[in-house]
This record gives sequence, C-alpha cells and structure tokens, in this order.
Amino acid sequence: MKTRYQLIILLVLIAGFIGACRTTSKIAKTPKAKNIILLIGDGMGVAQMYAGHIAKNAELNMESCKHIGFSRTHSASDLITDSGAGGTAIACGIKTTNKFIGMNPDSVAVKSILHYAEENNKSTGLVATAAITHATPASFIAHNISRYNYEALAEDFLKTDIEVFIGGGLDHFTKRKDQKSLLTDLKAKGYQIVTDQKGLKASKKSKLAALVYDKHPPYMADGRGNFLPLATNKAIELLNKDKNGFFLMIEGSQIDWAGHDNDSEKLIKEVLDFDEAVGLALDFAKKDGETLVIITADHETGGYVLSNEEEKRNSLKGIFASEHHSAVAVPVMAFGPGAEKFTGFMENTDLFHKMYEAFGFDKSKLSR
Ligand code: MG
Ligand code: ZN
Repeated sequence: MKTRYQLIILLVLIAGFIGACRTTSKIAKTPKAKNIILLIGDGMGVAQMYAGHIAKNAELNMESCKHIGFSRTHSASDLITDSGAGGTAIACGIKTTNKFIGMNPDSVAVKSILHYAEENNKSTGLVATAAITHATPASFIAHNISRYNYEALAEDFLKTDIEVFIGGGLDHFTKRKDQKSLLTDLKAKGYQIVTDQKGLKASKKSKLAALVYDKHPPYMADGRGNFLPLATNKAIELLNKDKNGFFLMIEGSQIDWAGHDNDSEKLIKEVLDFDEAVGLALDFAKKDGETLVIITADHETGGYVLSNEEEKRNSLKGIFASEHHSAVAVPVMAFGPGAEKFTGFMENTDLFHKMYEAFGFDKSKLSR
C-alpha cells in the first residue's frame, strides 16, 4: 500500500516537473522581434486587395501571411475615421479625434511606437508615397491638433532622432511662412539630404532625409515608377546597420487617393505597388529571422466592391459606394516573431500594444 502511494506521488512529481520545464522553456523561447516593419496601405480594404489579386492573376505577397486578423477603425469622435485619427491609433495606441495627429482627445501629446523604439535604442524610419508630413507618417512622429498644419508637422521631424525618412513634402521644409529652411537644421543634426531618386539610390549615410518630391509623388498611373520599392530597400539597408534593431513604417499612401477619386484602374496600380514593397519587406524578414512584418490599413476608402459587369460572366467591375472613407474593418496580416499576436478581430489601437509587446519593451514605461 505504502509503495503504491509513493509511486503515485513520484509519478505526480515527475509529471509536474516535466510540465514546469515545458512552461519555462516555452517562456524562454518566446522570440522577441528585433525589428518591426509596419506597412500601411492607406484606404486598403479586402476588396482593394482582391482587385489587386485579380489584376495580378496570382496571390499577392501580403496574402502569403499565415497570421491574419481584422482591425476595427472607428475613432474617438467618429464611426468613420480619417487618416489622422487612424494613423494615431496604430502609431500611439489611442483612439482620438478625427484630424488629430499624435494627440489624445484632450490635445495632450502621446508617444508613438517610433518614439518608444528610439527610447529603446533602436533606429527608426518612415517611408510614404505622399508628403512625409501627410497624416499617416506624421502620426508616428508629430503632435498636432490638425493634420493640415504641415509646416508645424515638418518641424516635429527635428524633435525626434529618426534615422531615415523618405517621401515627398520638401516644400513644407523649405517654402515656409516663417522663412526658415529646416534643411539647415537637418544638416546640423547630421542628416544627408537628398531631393531626387538618384541621390536616394546613392545614399549610404545612416541618417537620411530624402524629400524626393516638392509636394506629393505622382500616382503610379502617372509615372511614379520605382520610387516605393527603391525607398523600401534603401530604408531597410540603412536601418539594418543598427545592431539593436529598428522600427520602420512604410505607407502606400495613394490607395486611399484612388479610392477618393473612385478610380479602379489607379487603385489597382497602387495596391500592386504597395504589395511590391510588402514583398521586399517579407524577403528581408525571411532572411533575417528576427523581423516582424505587419501589413494593414488605417481604414477602407470608397466603399469599394467588386461586382459583375452587366451581361459579362466572370468579369469583375470595381464599384464605389462613396467618395469618402467607410466604417468596415480592415485586414491585418503578419509574418515573423510575434506574428501570432495579430490574429482575430482587434481594435486599431491594439496594433500599437501588440508591437510594443513584440519588441519586448518594458510595459511599466508605457506612459498613458
Ligand atoms: Mg495616409
Ligand atoms: Zn482618405
């Protein structure tokens, strides 16, 4: 009798020991993301993606991600967000008033994942196919009650030690009401400044301000060409010099604009261009092994649907329900260490918190 009990106790202890080992090794092995590349297709809903898929006649790069979810995009003020509140939700983890940039509804500045990456000694970068001062990229670095205060948003690029930024918007740095040229200040801070694609291609310095267009880059349909893939590769190349890792946000800005214009052809070209950048990010992440890639949108634009063309079976036609943003949830796709966190339905603000966690940053240092 006694030995039987001893045997049972021994078995329980062994089972417990094995269980404990498994749990601790699981915790120890939870991989942290050294780098995060966040790609935002502004205005990209599921229909926009599928229009790209049909045009490509093959799976998009972003469709190769196995961890998939949906992000609910309403803002603090509106059921339908704008890109200011939408960008701020993803960047800073707070719902705010439409048109606000990096501020809560009480107009208090809130730090973004880019600011926290800087605090944690990582390099940071922003790439956009719009002016770099436009709402989405600005949400990651600036604080303002209006997304339209472009010149003030440009000044905020000097207040954070961002390493690389590439986009349009040169005029907001040079042709200013206050007569200042922010390029002088950027140079003093050690940035290499380039204002054309040739300069961008040749740049080697780890601090780069590439303002390649005076205002916005043109649509793909109007000859933007290789700009986004070039900018994506350059940003990754320069940021990857940092042994501590990096945070990079890349925006396909003009998917949204084609949605506002209700132009399916332009939209599809923008989706495919954005997806090329996604492919480059995924290629890097696959080789690197320590990079988390997240692809999402800040909202859907145009209430886009793919309908049948009259009398023509199996021929799709893109139809828009509005010229504005819509309220539907948008896709989230992820690859790499921590990707499994980005599944199911989530709030757009959860994207910030999931990135913060994936980086392994100290939660007690999260000021809110
Ligand atoms: Mg945008
Ligand atoms: Zn828009």
